[in-house]
Amino acid sequence: MDESARIARNTQRLTELHPSFAQRLRNVIAALESQSFRPRIQDAWRSPADQLKAFSSGHSKLRFGFHNVTSPNGQPESLAVDLLDDDSPLASRSEYLLRLAAAAATVHCQTGVGWGLPPALKEAVAAAIAGGDFKANVKIGWDPTHVEPADITVAQARAGVRPPASGAATRGRSRRSGGATAEARARGSRKKKRGASKKKAKKTRRRRGG
Ligand SMILES: [Zn+2]
Repeated sequence: MDESARIARNTQRLTELHPSFAQRLRNVIAALESQSFRPRIQDAWRSPADQLKAFSSGHSKLRFGFHNVTSPNGQPESLAVDLLDDDSPLASRSEYLLRLAAAAATVHCQTGVGWGLPPALKEAVAAAIAGGDFKANVKIGWDPTHVEPADITVAQARAGVRPPASGAATRGRSRRSGGATAEARARGSRKKKRGASKKKAKKTRRRRGG
């Protein structure tokens, strides 16, 4: 994709994001561009139908995720993007993916760079990112171009919570552990509900489809 097309695409896709997440993403994109990379937003908001496709084809493990968030009146307010390395779009380079994760962390976001890895390999990735060792030869997780907020959960987003603007409020550890507790709670309740959730999911899809 040539440079003007890439920039036009990013500009358009940023409009599909919730404003505070869009601001975080602008910072991530600017950071990577300053390191001579050319990030391209491949996917931002996903309709319920597209999410189902992504779920069915194994590109997402969620039936409802950060990509699907809307305002109460149905306007796209995605809290996730897939940010490809436009100079190597079919297989984003490992250095790009590690730098992306590092840039995301500076704005309270995370990527899927470690997802699905065994603990030791996940730790190796985290250590490379924390140490700025972006050329490290590490195994990469299954969704490394996916960027999402690290300070709220999908369950919270679905309930209407939105991440604060970048740099607005970081209360560090207590905030994060609060989030983790909420996440664990959400996971537990998801598990409990899963059996009886088919009908409900259908209803939700219909509601959002409108
Ligand atoms: Zn994604």
